[in-house]
Amino acid sequence: LKSDNEGQNSVEKEIEKALRPLSFEDFTGQQKVVDNIKIFVQAAKQRSEPLDHVLLHGPPGLGKTTLSSIIANELQTSIKITSGPVLDKPSDLAGLLTNLEPHDVLFIDEIHRLNPIVEEYLYSAMEDFRIDIMLDSGPNARSVQIGLNPFTLIGATTRAGLLTSPLRARFGINARLEYYDSTLLTKIVNRSSAILNTPIESDAAFEIARRSRGTPRISNNLLRRTRDFAQIKGNGTITKAIAQMALKALDVDENGLDDMDNRILLTIIEKFKGGPVGLTTIATAVGEESETIEEVYEPFLIQEGYIKRTSRGREATELAYKHLKVVPPLSKRG
Ligand code: ADP
Repeated sequence: LKSDNEGQNSVEKEIEKALRPLSFEDFTGQQKVVDNIKIFVQAAKQRSEPLDHVLLHGPPGLGKTTLSSIIANELQTSIKITSGPVLDKPSDLAGLLTNLEPHDVLFIDEIHRLNPIVEEYLYSAMEDFRIDIMLDSGPNARSVQIGLNPFTLIGATTRAGLLTSPLRARFGINARLEYYDSTLLTKIVNRSSAILNTPIESDAAFEIARRSRGTPRISNNLLRRTRDFAQIKGNGTITKAIAQMALKALDVDENGLDDMDNRILLTIIEKFKGGPVGLTTIATAVGEESETIEEVYEPFLIQEGYIKRTSRGREATELAYKHLKVVPPLSKRG
């Protein structure tokens, strides 16, 4: 699964860092989740206990990593960040766990992609703050138990459904992040442009926000590219006209669908008569990994009502036909 910040240079990474909220106050939206987590953090701190383990799920770019760093900040502890696919063997995990200070946060992104052996290892760590370490191998092999400092595991996943039940059961706090509405994203765009020292008109901020697929990471990316257009094609201020020019150049359409969104819809409609068609078939046709389609593109297209998931596969809705200005077949009308 590709992350959007792959291939960024160091300046871009610095900007990304500057835009990342550091406190609950700077974190816009997800109100219910944030309100609950604030209580749990405060209560744990008062009792001088580690915060219970937290599972955060939802599509990429909605703030799971950001929220985890904020939690660590508020707990006045450190956060160690890793990800499921990186933890190859139990010793990788043991190395991280034994280096945690009391009440630290260990953040595991893409936790649904943990190797099963590593995952099993995590169970005792989460439950009893203990791990078994194997010493020697062959006939001399024996395992010793090591106690860990009490810590908080925060697991993030785009696919909560792929977590095994023993792992899921070990998280005391479970929160789902939702797509952001345009009002919230407008706030985020305004905050980010202030940090970037770029003047932006309010209708321009709204234009970027409403075309960001409900995702702060995309808002910030579009803002940065729009800022380039304002600098080269305008006078530095992001106006609505500049925003529209930039979004058009970036293949973000009027409804905020990007090139891949539109290719997926067009494929279902033109190649497969509107569906139903299987996910892997769509993936092959558009040349993208089915995992990425399922985790990144499909949830938004479903939420916005462009496709439906049925037992026989994905179907384009009437809205998808309308969007692409294709006349739906009789069977799809009504
Ligand atoms: P995830 O871990 O869910 O993929 P991130 O936490 O990496 O998402 O968020 C991507 C970027 O979007 C962050 O760097 C941050 O700048 C921005 N962001 C995410 N959520 C918010 C929010 N609620 N308020 C402001 N900015 C946000």
